[in-house]
Amino acid sequence: MRKLIVGNWKMNGVSSDLAEIAAIAEKSLNYSAVEPALCLPATLISRACDNVQGFTIGGQDCHMQPSGAHTGCVSADMLVDAGASLTIVGHSERRAAQHEQDHDVLAKAEAAHKAGLKVIICVGETLAERDAGKALHIVLGQVAGSLPQNISGEWLSVAYEPVWAIGTGRIPEMADVREMHGAIRSALVDRYGPVGNGVRVLYGGSMNGDNAAELLAVENVDGGLIGGASLTCAKFEPILAAAQAFGE
Ligand code: PEP
Repeated sequence: MRKLIVGNWKMNGVSSDLAEIAAIAEKSLNYSAVEPALCLPATLISRACDNVQGFTIGGQDCHMQPSGAHTGCVSADMLVDAGASLTIVGHSERRAAQHEQDHDVLAKAEAAHKAGLKVIICVGETLAERDAGKALHIVLGQVAGSLPQNISGEWLSVAYEPVWAIGTGRIPEMADVREMHGAIRSALVDRYGPVGNGVRVLYGGSMNGDNAAELLAVENVDGGLIGGASLTCAKFEPILAAAQAFGE
């Protein structure tokens, strides 16, 4: 499996950043062993797609309904219409600020898949939960509650993002990454059988050009979800280069 390296631009990016997106897309052509993508604010998706044919552009969330009276929301069909082929759902910032529950995340993932999008479902524990020794319990609970019962094909990825590592510059011990990714893999295989081995498990949380090689080398780390270090080509390219070293 090629490493999947996905940038999450969060609420960043306006017209003047389209050149940066194009630069990232162009540079990514040098890394044939990597599957790169950028998840952009909804307002930029269509224009970015016009600029970067052949490069995967995604959204950061979608509504569970295809249309209707949901002021301010964006449906999965709308993301597809804008040119997206991927979306994140269940990011911890949404679970916290928008009070999204596992069942909401599951409904969004199913809506996104139905619309034809690939989906990254985010899970991760808070610092208090890790300090209390509950990290595995919390994350495996999120996996059980947020993922569809059955899958076929390769449309689903899971991103393990410890909440306390997001935007903080802190990352877990590699042994903890190994333990968590191994536990998620086992849960996927228990649920889906051999198909569970084809679900990518991404690591997210302060991944950058300095730590990407070490994180991506951990067993069952099939790629990365990257926030801050995806906003410029200068910071994102070293992560693509680190992923390239692992080959196809
Ligand atoms: C994220 O929010 O998905 C993320 C991983 O952010 P950062 O890389 O900035 O920690």
